[in-house]
Amino acid sequence: MNIILFGPPGAGKGTQSKYLVKKLNSFQISTGELLRNEIKNNTDIGKKIINDMNDGKFVSDEIVNDLIQEYIFDPIKKNRLIFDGYPRSVSQAKNLNKLIERSNQKIDFIFFLNVKKDVIIKRIENRKVLENRSDDNLNTILKRYDKYMETTKPVLEFYSKNPNFKEIDGNQEIDEITRKIDAFINV
Ligand code: AMP
Repeated sequence: MNIILFGPPGAGKGTQSKYLVKKLNSFQISTGELLRNEIKNNTDIGKKIINDMNDGKFVSDEIVNDLIQEYIFDPIKKNRLIFDGYPRSVSQAKNLNKLIERSNQKIDFIFFLNVKKDVIIKRIENRKVLENRSDDNLNTILKRYDKYMETTKPVLEFYSKNPNFKEIDGNQEIDEITRKIDAFINV
């Protein structure tokens, strides 16, 4: 089963991805994590993206599209992909469709975790203490939320016509969100 988790930063995509990875014995593709690793390892990509990432801006489609490609074509991961934080633009969504089709796969579910801004601010402030992420200060959080909403609206429109698109109230407790996801995937 291939699943896309969609929603603003702090919506719980990471938490639900980790749950699904265990449950479905699958693999999480978190572009945020892949990008943070590039920075940590001080790679050429890392050097290119560090300022934008710390500023809450999106990294270019070209860079993220390149990063995810090897996961999609990895035979071990075939039909066991959980996308967390990708796609975030229509161009990324189209790229994903193309790669999924080319690798003879399909997307089984697109879950949109819809969360209010004030709930997200509280969650990210807690996460900042737990994970010490350099892009988790309040200013950056607000920038990331606004940027997310602005850029992903067209992506939402793109996916909402899909019968596998499911909107879930992400303001609820983690377990309740998990229960709703479970009910949809029904395995
Ligand atoms: P996340 O861990 O998903 O909240 O992502 C953290 C940051 O990584 C974002 O604020 C962006 O700067 C960058 N990022 C992650 N995924 C993408 C993506 N699909 N497209 C562009 N930028 C991304």
